[in-house]
This record gives sequence, C-alpha cells and structure tokens, in this order.
Amino acid sequence: MKTCSKCKIEKEESEFYKQKSRRNCLRSECKECMLNESKKYNKNNKEKRNEYRKEWRKNNKDNSSVRQKEQRKKLPDYYIKAKLGVKNPPPELIEMKREQLTIHRLIKEMENETIR
Ligand SMILES: [Zn+2]
Repeated sequence: MKTCSKCKIEKEESEFYKQKSRRNCLRSECKECMLNESKKYNKNNKEKRNEYRKEWRKNNKDNSSVRQKEQRKKLPDYYIKAKLGVKNPPPELIEMKREQLTIHRLIKEMENETIR
C-alpha cells in the first residue's frame, strides 16, 4: 500500500503509475490524481494549442505528409475503431476511447518532461 501525495488516500500499488526514470519506483500521485492533473493540463493548453494549430495550418497547407501526421495526432474515427476492435461501435464509445487515448498521450508527454 502507498499513500498518494495529492489526495492523501492509501491505495494499492497497482493504483499508481510507474516512473520510467527509476526502476520499480512509483509516482507519488495515484492514477486518479494523474488523470485529473492531465485533464486540467489539457484544458489549460487547449486554447494555446488551437491557436498554434491555426497558425501551423496556414504555414503547412501544401505539406501533405505533415498533414497526415497531424491527422494521426487528432485520432480520427477509423484509428479509434481499430483500437477498440469492435465492429460499428456507438459514437459515445468512440468519444470515450478518444479521450482515454488523449489522456494516455498526455501522461506520456508529462513523463517525458520529468525525465528531461
Ligand atoms: Zn491521489
């Protein structure tokens, strides 16, 4: 058992993400707090990112390979469906999966930031 540094609740070790930089070392915040944190992070950066994307699109109109990369980042429906492995999933399920994938990406980004 381990106590989360954020919510101060004692939880199973499986409720904590591993820290990549050190072996067998768990993050001090539980998964739930990490998710809340990344949601907040997502919200704060949404506007900035939109602004950046608008500008970026203006400059990269003709670069199709870059556009493809951008498409993948946005997690299009066909990609989500492939990840789900379900035939004709309802739109709500696709949305949920998209959010989950986005959060996982954010957590990865955050982990990379802490290693650097
Ligand atoms: Zn917590």
